[in-house]
Amino acid sequence: MRLKPRIAVFADFDDTLTTQNVARFLLKRFAPEALDRYSGLYRAGEITFREYQELSFNAVRLPVTHMQDAAAEEIELRSGINELLAAVEEVGGTFTIASAGLRFYIEPVLKRHGLEEIDVVCGTATRGESDSEPFRYDYPFGETGDDSNEERCRGDWATCKCKALEQAGEDAVTVFVGDGSTSDACVAPKADFVFARDRLLRICNEQGIAATPFEDFTPVTEFVTKLSAASKA
Ligand SMILES: [Zn+2]
Repeated sequence: MRLKPRIAVFADFDDTLTTQNVARFLLKRFAPEALDRYSGLYRAGEITFREYQELSFNAVRLPVTHMQDAAAEEIELRSGINELLAAVEEVGGTFTIASAGLRFYIEPVLKRHGLEEIDVVCGTATRGESDSEPFRYDYPFGETGDDSNEERCRGDWATCKCKALEQAGEDAVTVFVGDGSTSDACVAPKADFVFARDRLLRICNEQGIAATPFEDFTPVTEFVTKLSAASKA
């Protein structure tokens, strides 16, 4: 008897679970000048992704609840997510969101769509009494400079998705679903199976990383169901 593999699906949040980049949507609305300035510095290679994100959100001088309400009201999820979650549960697998973004805007979006039970690996931003204070940022695998970022990862991604993937354990069959060119491209070669769109798909194609294109979650759902059925045969 062949042992049934444990399927661990990891999905990026911004532009993958959601149909747009929520961090950018919020910054465009609540701190457009900071977004322009810091995204320019980031593109020029003068600051890291983590610094871009931290500095930009620090420029938002309104209560966090304003951003949370806007995200909950306006952000849509990519279609097929409920079917994917059901398929993963059916085969006894796990589904985890691995995001370089921040919990304060991820959770209200999930809650609005009834998905608050999903595990999320991401950073947090907390602020004291005053809305003009900078946030305090914390990341699940330590700040930049820990061994995961330094030795194995190419960049300062805020949250290291490679570490998140490792936590699934050696015996898990890992599936990564994403769209981006930074933290997603870092973790993709380490996953057993990759579903990619947009920039991540281009990078996978260029680098010879096997990846299945997706625009909604249907191909991922079909894959999870087939993989589980194949292992039972
Ligand atoms: Zn990495």
